[in-house]
Amino acid sequence: MITRFAPSPTGPLHLGHAYSAILAHDMAMAAKGKFLLRIEDIDLSRARPEWETQIYDDLRWLGLRWATPVMRQSDQMDRYRATTDQLFRDGFLYPCQCTRADIAAAAAAPQEGVPAFGPDGRIYPGTCHTPSDARAALPVPNDAALRLDLGRLRRLFDDPKGLWLTETGSGPKGETGTIRFTLANLACEVGDVVLARRDMGTSYHLSVVLDDAAQGITHVVRGADLYEATKIHVVLQHLLGLPTPIYHHHRLIRDDAGKRLAKRDDARALSKYRAEGATADNIRRMVGL
Ligand code: GLU
Repeated sequence: MITRFAPSPTGPLHLGHAYSAILAHDMAMAAKGKFLLRIEDIDLSRARPEWETQIYDDLRWLGLRWATPVMRQSDQMDRYRATTDQLFRDGFLYPCQCTRADIAAAAAAPQEGVPAFGPDGRIYPGTCHTPSDARAALPVPNDAALRLDLGRLRRLFDDPKGLWLTETGSGPKGETGTIRFTLANLACEVGDVVLARRDMGTSYHLSVVLDDAAQGITHVVRGADLYEATKIHVVLQHLLGLPTPIYHHHRLIRDDAGKRLAKRDDARALSKYRAEGATADNIRRMVGL
């Protein structure tokens, strides 16, 4: 078993991160496997080296150890770019210049029973979509976001049995076991997601899928807030010929008011508990481990 903890160095780690990291670590140790750490810093406008240093400090303080060297996503940009280039040439991506405001304005009045929002926000209404044969011969644009053409995927992979993944934890609605879905579900609930952001050349979805495969991750342990995004990841694994790991989504740690902790919740930062004299065991107990 190989698990990983994949934080973004954009703020202090809090109790929710501690829970996720300890769970992934302990699962791997119990199976005599390996625990890896990956720094997800593709958003160079938000990532800071001092947060990365603090991540190492906090995790060591929690008593966790990981295999080295640590993969840092900002060092992998050429690999991501090679994949987006290939997907573009194969006609699976189309350029999009829409702003958030354009998308909000173009989305028609929501139809009953059809979701308006997916895991990446408002479902894209397809404004910039062009037929794949009209774009494959064009150079890969570097001044636009690139969106996944789910319509083309649906025409090519007409699989009546659909796609599936194994969930050993649970999604936000208690989803567990074998989770089945179709590309038609995905087109309706998620839409044509951005696989390469204009300012980045990649996206969370693409990088996470490529790196989980590159690092041989067998069990992805992460918060239930990422459960819906997993279906996008399974589609990408299919498209890129990569294995689908087992997924283990866990409950979210909430504050006293029941709100899920966010990076800005400095009050729950691990460094703060540490400065106040807490121990790693105290943290384990606080998150219910
Ligand atoms: N980097 C993501 C985060 O900080 C987690 C990615 C994942 O576990 O798939 O929330």
